[in-house]
Amino acid sequence: MVRAAATPALAAPVPLHFVARRPAGALPALGDAMRRHGRLIRGVQWAIVLVYAVLVVLPAFLPLPDDAARILDHLGLFAQFLFWGIWWPFVLLSMVLLGRVWCGVFCPEGALSEAVSRHGRGRGIPRWMRWGGWPAVAFVITTIYGQLVSVYQYPQAALLVLGGSTVAAVLVGAWVGRGKRVWCRHLCPVGGVFGLLARLAPLHFQVDRARWEARTGGITRLPNCAPLIDIRRMESASACHMCGRCSGQRDAVTLIARVPGSEIVRHGANTASGWDTALLLFGLIGVAMGAFHWGASPGFVALRVALADWAVERGWWWLLADNAPWWLLTHYPQNQDVFVWLDGVLIVAYILATGLAVGAALYGLCLAAARALGRPGAQHHLALAYVPLGGCGAFLGLSMTTVTMLRHEGLAVPWVDGTRALLLAGAALWGLWLAWHSSAVHSQSRTRRALATGLIAIGSGLVVAGWSALFFWW
Ligand code: SF4
Repeated sequence: MVRAAATPALAAPVPLHFVARRPAGALPALGDAMRRHGRLIRGVQWAIVLVYAVLVVLPAFLPLPDDAARILDHLGLFAQFLFWGIWWPFVLLSMVLLGRVWCGVFCPEGALSEAVSRHGRGRGIPRWMRWGGWPAVAFVITTIYGQLVSVYQYPQAALLVLGGSTVAAVLVGAWVGRGKRVWCRHLCPVGGVFGLLARLAPLHFQVDRARWEARTGGITRLPNCAPLIDIRRMESASACHMCGRCSGQRDAVTLIARVPGSEIVRHGANTASGWDTALLLFGLIGVAMGAFHWGASPGFVALRVALADWAVERGWWWLLADNAPWWLLTHYPQNQDVFVWLDGVLIVAYILATGLAVGAALYGLCLAAARALGRPGAQHHLALAYVPLGGCGAFLGLSMTTVTMLRHEGLAVPWVDGTRALLLAGAALWGLWLAWHSSAVHSQSRTRRALATGLIAIGSGLVVAGWSALFFWW
């Protein structure tokens, strides 16, 4: 049997002898089992909703832990470790390893939004909500706001940020869509980042268009794809929540393994958008770096001292006042942790400036690489070569909380520096592999491809230097 040479755009079924067999094995069977056991998955989701609600809400009403408190004897510390030490860093990692299984099987926000939407008003999705820039804008705003209120340290701030996001997801579910996850598809502040990372995953639900259109059998009743994907045309794992509901559809949808990152090489030229590039280069790399940098940067400290002196000389005392509410700027006098207005202004400016500088430098290099290939417009495809470094930087930045909390517990955390260096080097090399192979889609000239890959390598060097400053030099 041979696979059909091209996808037939015909209404008539393709003769069966032109269509490849549906892959078999453990992974396809697992995908099919996910479809059959949808109720079990929903049960897991509701259990997580319960645990999540308790751990987000309760700690906000407890006294803050003192220095003697430990993770296992203080609910607030336990929740802090679970959310910021385990959940966020390892959810990011899971995107790279498993695709968006977290979204489809475990995420409490998505589960709530979908459940409410089943009984909500069921309105159509307004045009403004479909704007492609929301994931980037929401990510930047949430990241900066989280720093202003110290979301990683204080449960009140965590309730505000995580709880606020959950309430927004529920309200969107109550308003638009019918049993859908419109929030996840268009507005979730981390949905765009998850979509970028999932393109690296070695697992995905593959759709065989030829089999689909050959109508060879399988399940024909359409599943409820909550993130609103046109399953028949799905090429990218970016938006797929890996819920398994469509596994076996028309005998054409199958959970299978693939070479990690191969989606970026094969489909990146068609699927990468300008908003993906903006989110990746300016947001996930630039803004995230600024958010983790400012607290350790000697430049930030020097600038703060200079500006404080400058404000005193001019009598601008309001800049040094600490009367901002805790939901706007960190305000915990009992912990000697209070931001003045100048801190707020500086943090926002520092993060945005870092995001703009890093993003512009990387985008400039992508543009130059596209020109080197003789393919203006290829910059968005080439920019995806930075996905591994983007994910790695965010993972390492988030796992700083994990390491700090474990050390506070008195646990030795060996090999941290070595592991960080190894992960950064591995992500940079992976990115270069992606750049080299992606460039082949645009040019057959090895010289041009080497030049383009070299330009991407300069950007990788900049990103690695940025994270190295935080982990090894400051
Ligand atoms: S395409 Fe939709 S239904 Fe199929 S696994 Fe992905 S999210 Fe689920």
